[in-house]
Amino acid sequence: MRYSGWKVITEGLLGNTGWGRAWRDPAPKAEYDAIVIGGGGHGLATAYYLAKNHGLTNIAVLEKGYLGSGNIGRNTTIVRANYFLPGNSEFYSHSLKLWEKLEGELNYNVMHSQRGHIILFHSDGQRDAAVRRGNAIVNQGDDAELLSVAQLKEMLPYLDYNQTRFPIYGGLIQRRAGTARHDAVAWGYARAADRLGVDLIQNCEVTGIDTVDGKVIGVQTKRGAIRAKKVGMVVAGRSSQVAAMAGMRLPIESHVLQAFVTEGLKPVIDHVVSYGMGHFYISQSDKGGLVFGGDIDMYSSYASRGNLPMVEHVMEAGMTLMPMLARARVLRSWGGIMDMTPDGSPIIDKTHIDGLFVDAGWNYGGFKAAPASGWCMAHLMATGQSHEVARRFRLDRFRTGHVMDEEGTGSQHNLH
Ligand SMILES: Cc1cc2nc3c(=O)[nH]c(=O)nc-3n(C[C@H](O)[C@H](O)[C@H](O)COP(=O)(O)OP(=O)(O)OC[C@H]3O[C@@H](n4cnc5c(N)ncnc54)[C@H](O)[C@@H]3O)c2cc1C
Repeated sequence: MRYSGWKVITEGLLGNTGWGRAWRDPAPKAEYDAIVIGGGGHGLATAYYLAKNHGLTNIAVLEKGYLGSGNIGRNTTIVRANYFLPGNSEFYSHSLKLWEKLEGELNYNVMHSQRGHIILFHSDGQRDAAVRRGNAIVNQGDDAELLSVAQLKEMLPYLDYNQTRFPIYGGLIQRRAGTARHDAVAWGYARAADRLGVDLIQNCEVTGIDTVDGKVIGVQTKRGAIRAKKVGMVVAGRSSQVAAMAGMRLPIESHVLQAFVTEGLKPVIDHVVSYGMGHFYISQSDKGGLVFGGDIDMYSSYASRGNLPMVEHVMEAGMTLMPMLARARVLRSWGGIMDMTPDGSPIIDKTHIDGLFVDAGWNYGGFKAAPASGWCMAHLMATGQSHEVARRFRLDRFRTGHVMDEEGTGSQHNLH
């Protein structure tokens, strides 16, 4: 069934009785050409592009819970392509271009909204860094613009510009950046993959990876063994655990990242705004809630909820930047498990086991990456070669020293 304005009108007139299920609920087959472990944004996108770009249709996505139950449905939905380092910048640029056509491609409203993302800066040094970043983004072919305080005051009148500690010196805007509805991205990819014949198998936790003579031959699941010559591990915060099933130790730590949403308010924040002096970012959802977050909880954990010190830190940063926040009531908060790499950049690579591939290390920035990650992981699984925009996301860079330290903090995430 194709979704369209016409379909909405006719279904409205007919009592909405003609809508079918968005995707099938198949039982697992004994064997597939390829298996993708993980039904998050990246896993579903990988399966979709395997089918769409490479013609593989005998594929299964194995998800331990329900589709979209992981970070894809828990993030603060920021989509941008303002990365600095070669390797990252062309990858995220590719991703943003995919975002711009995603709704038409998937025939699904993912509510992609290019409302602009502004990073504030608060010192001369930060301004210099913002100018360098802006030039790198423009050289990459994407948009970036420096904003003066006067321009900012017009666009964001609610900020406290004269805080004694961190006065605002200006901002760097990417106008094509913005937000999208997070779980709709999972649903859109799921529905589109299903229509191409991909089996989406929920409540099917992978418990083991079977190998013979250095080659993958399938997986063990809570619903039985399934054979496949190609297996992709696309499980975000659980990457270390799943890779351990194949005897691998990944350079990844899992940490919780929390997010918060207020009660619905009238439109007040038109952009995505990031504080340059504290880890704080905020936007307003189409329902009116102010959606915001900050840094990871600094200890490793697999619990999908966070602790109070980070709640206090985020609220303090928010109040410093925009005191009006004091009048909003926080409705809920939640957490997701982040797959943090030592250099803050991801991994899309083969492993030492023939036919076993890994897509991981998305840190807290993997939502915006989902389209390009799926595109490049599908390319790798289908052709055995890295896609050109993901060629630096190598697993062995941590051994060879070719790290991509986008944050400039080395392995010390607590320094950003
Ligand atoms: C609070 C928060 C805010 C964030 N904000 C942003 C943001 O603004 N912008 C941005 O770009 N990114 C953001 N992120 C990061 C982003 O959400 C993640 O990097 C991204 O969603 C990870 O990829 P995924 O969607 O595939 O992960 P997930 O949705 O977590 O998918 C992985 C799936 O694997 C499944 N799985 C795990 N183990 C197994 C197993 N053994 N067998 C079968 N299935 C298994 C899980 O159940 C899960 O569904 C944020 C994350 C959080 C938590």
